[in-house]
Amino acid sequence: MHEYGLMEEVVKSLLAKLEEPGVEIEGAQMEVVLKVGALAIHSAAATRQAYEVLVQSTKLEKSRLTLIVEPLTLTCAGCGFQGSLPEGAVDPHEQLPLAPCPQCGAISPVTGSRGVESIELVLD
Ligand SMILES: [Zn+2]
Repeated sequence: MHEYGLMEEVVKSLLAKLEEPGVEIEGAQMEVVLKVGALAIHSAAATRQAYEVLVQSTKLEKSRLTLIVEPLTLTCAGCGFQGSLPEGAVDPHEQLPLAPCPQCGAISPVTGSRGVESIELVLD
């Protein structure tokens, strides 16, 4: 599962951060703000699910995940349209994902990030 491997890395680095000196999590509300590229995951739902499985019985068990998915961008050479596409518009496994232009229907290249853009741990 794509999401699982990605989230494994994310959770691992967050847990390492919690081990750092001076990080006090006793009684704190933890929020994890994760920004990923649309081509890094198949779906936001699967990503959340993977997170919830991975944080079980860890210090992150009670944390809240805020997931921000960077949108896909389609650029059409035909009509000049440039805009974002909804989640799941292309298969993230495609090396050069293509989708029909929403304006003129021409098959056009889609770009998006394939990685984790940022991970932020907020303690209240
Ligand atoms: Zn077009």
